[in-house]
Amino acid sequence: MRAVAEACRSRGLPIRIGVNSGSVEKKVLEKYGGPTPCALVESALNHASLLEKTGFRDIVLSIKSSDVETTIRANEIAARECDYPLHLGVTEAGTERTGIVRSAIGIGSLLREGIGDTIRVSLTADPLREVQAGVDILKALGLRGGVKIISCPTCGRTKIDLISLASKVEKRLADCRKPITVAVMGCAVNGPGEAREADVGIAGGDGCGLIFRKGVVVRRVPESELLSGLMQEIENL
Ligand code: SF4
Repeated sequence: MRAVAEACRSRGLPIRIGVNSGSVEKKVLEKYGGPTPCALVESALNHASLLEKTGFRDIVLSIKSSDVETTIRANEIAARECDYPLHLGVTEAGTERTGIVRSAIGIGSLLREGIGDTIRVSLTADPLREVQAGVDILKALGLRGGVKIISCPTCGRTKIDLISLASKVEKRLADCRKPITVAVMGCAVNGPGEAREADVGIAGGDGCGLIFRKGVVVRRVPESELLSGLMQEIENL
């Protein structure tokens, strides 16, 4: 332990202590009757104290569980009991759909409370989706800039393929760092008004569509030009 601490200290590297439900020491498990939030925290702090004895304090704690509630409670306790930076994540969160939901609730609840310094979304999916999900969690909480896309759920008034249009808009704006809100709405009757808070947006019509800014229509274009028209409008912002 001392040698590891020395090696890290001389290189200016922090040490991350990772504890999850499967790695809690036997005696701690017996004390708490299982991998409870308190057991996870105690285990992490036990490891930290071994490093502290060598005088090393450049420590990050990563306390994870595959159970969302346990992850939240454990990190709340850790935040109260120590001042080490916390790395957040729900471990073994599952496949893309369920994993994103569980990670967003677990990580998002803690960040919302001001707890957590770094995050990791783990999914049984392409690692790129993990990064995108992490960015989306930060954006949803207003902790990272970039484009916020709002889009309507579609209804009987929708006459265009809004679902594919919205996902095209999302892809085209994935790397745009402008702090703007973009609306993709299904109809001209309610769209611009419903998305009044958007900086810019489009509303589908029948064979054509509208481009609007702050709820006010600025242009009417053929349906096939809605996407390019919107991008042009965003470039001009
Ligand atoms: S914006 Fe128009 S299409 Fe979309 S849900 Fe509202 S009424 Fe329906």
